[in-house]
Amino acid sequence: MEPQNHLALLEIAIAEARLGLVEGGIPIGAALFDRKGKLLGRGHNCRVQENDPSMHAETDAFRKAGRQRGYRDKIMVTTLAPCWYCSGLVRQFRIGKVVVGESVNFNGGLDWLRENGVEVIDLANQECISLLADFIQKNPAIWTRISAKSSRPRLVLLHS
Ligand SMILES: [Zn+2]
Repeated sequence: MEPQNHLALLEIAIAEARLGLVEGGIPIGAALFDRKGKLLGRGHNCRVQENDPSMHAETDAFRKAGRQRGYRDKIMVTTLAPCWYCSGLVRQFRIGKVVVGESVNFNGGLDWLRENGVEVIDLANQECISLLADFIQKNPAIWTRISAKSSRPRLVLLHS
């Protein structure tokens, strides 16, 4: 798949992130595609909206896609590097490829995924970087509240 195609997939995840922002949530979006780029499911982080710390963008997109025959040929696209929880989802279901908008605000489990044979593409997309950085700057309490007394691994669990 060509870089411009990855960007086209990322646009769906960005649209989801913006939807989350409008809802008052953390702007992180994701979408699951098949290897031909067909959209299977899309979603965004709903931790604030639904008071559900387990509803991450990747989880939401994964659930919306419903049950798939297999995941090796699927592509998880997300605006931010996946946390440990979502990296675990990728490995549990053996999703073959992960495309991330950025890993500047948060690096998550990218190295771990790569070490375990998952194809990871980091687009270092400026729109994704700015979208979340602006949110963190304006809403430091939402971003840091629960993690104030936590070590970094817990921060990883809570934030993406
Ligand atoms: Zn996550």
